[in-house]
Amino acid sequence: MFIDLRSDTVTRPTAAMKSIMMEAQLGDDVFGEDPSINELEQKVAHMFGKEAALFCPSGTMTNQIAVKTHTKPMDEVIIEKSNHIYYYEAGGVAFNSLASVRLVQGNRGRIKPNDITENINPINLHHARTSLVCVENTSNRGGGSYYTTSELYELTQTAHQSGLKIHLDGARLFNALVETGGTTSDIGAMFDSISICLSKGLGCPVGSVLTGSSAFISEARRYRKVMGGGMRQAGIIAAAGIYALDHHIHRLKEDHYRAKQIETVLKECTYVNNVLEVMTNIIIFELNQSMPADVLVGKLKEQHIHCFSIGKQQIRMVTHLDFNDDMLNTVTKALKNL
Ligand SMILES: *Cc1c(COP(=O)(O)O)cnc(C)c1O
Repeated sequence: MFIDLRSDTVTRPTAAMKSIMMEAQLGDDVFGEDPSINELEQKVAHMFGKEAALFCPSGTMTNQIAVKTHTKPMDEVIIEKSNHIYYYEAGGVAFNSLASVRLVQGNRGRIKPNDITENINPINLHHARTSLVCVENTSNRGGGSYYTTSELYELTQTAHQSGLKIHLDGARLFNALVETGGTTSDIGAMFDSISICLSKGLGCPVGSVLTGSSAFISEARRYRKVMGGGMRQAGIIAAAGIYALDHHIHRLKEDHYRAKQIETVLKECTYVNNVLEVMTNIIIFELNQSMPADVLVGKLKEQHIHCFSIGKQQIRMVTHLDFNDDMLNTVTKALKNL
């Protein structure tokens, strides 16, 4: 047994979640006949006030399908340079959508309305057609930073007034909403499409959901098929998603509280140079020259605590459903005694 702070994707399904999965009604989803998948898709669409939703194996797939459905080849997508769709999806926008990206530098992964208006290409023969904006909330490489509801409102208004579509990569959207008090129906009203991950803070073994209008989702369903993402009796995993949406959203506050506790301890440690203000469940900190990141990772590993270095002097830790108060005690003691 070790304490795993590498990511919130490392969680195992709880006993209650597993028993729901075992009892799930199943059918062939490629025929549209899996009752559990249909229920999950309807549930997510309903939460966001959208017409339809699509269950996919991963958040990379929901994002890539969204970009593909919103764009035509030779279009351009405005996106922050550290955001997942550009930085962590293996060049998928070029490969799947034949589109170019216009990278903008934000603040902890977040952009502003003028980042949109200043990066729209003039409409003429020489330029790619700007057609889509993608934003990420919370931001992964931004260390779990989030947008306020009014910031999202301004961004989505700006995109729409400029004739652009706007997609939300909400892999950790619920981490943001439990902090801002924003609602899923607000989010649904603002964005053309939204992707959420079930396999991050919500604690499911697999799965992401894309939601939008019925026309958008029926097109997206074709792209899921061509990407090989059509699954059969996948209701067994969709059932975990239904359970998680009912039971694992409010508890995200606990993960944020524990992340804050770690931040407080780190700020007292002499080998730490700087801690990025913890806003949700991700802790990113920078070490002094005397403590290279690999050395710290090694020392913690000897004490059965796993985390990632994300640079020569930078460490990332992520709290989650399988990280409890006893583990928090062990980690804070270990950090104090390094
Ligand atoms: C994890 C993540 C995704 C999706 O990742 P998958 O591993 O493909 O499910 C998308 N966006 C962000 C911001 C993420 O952190």
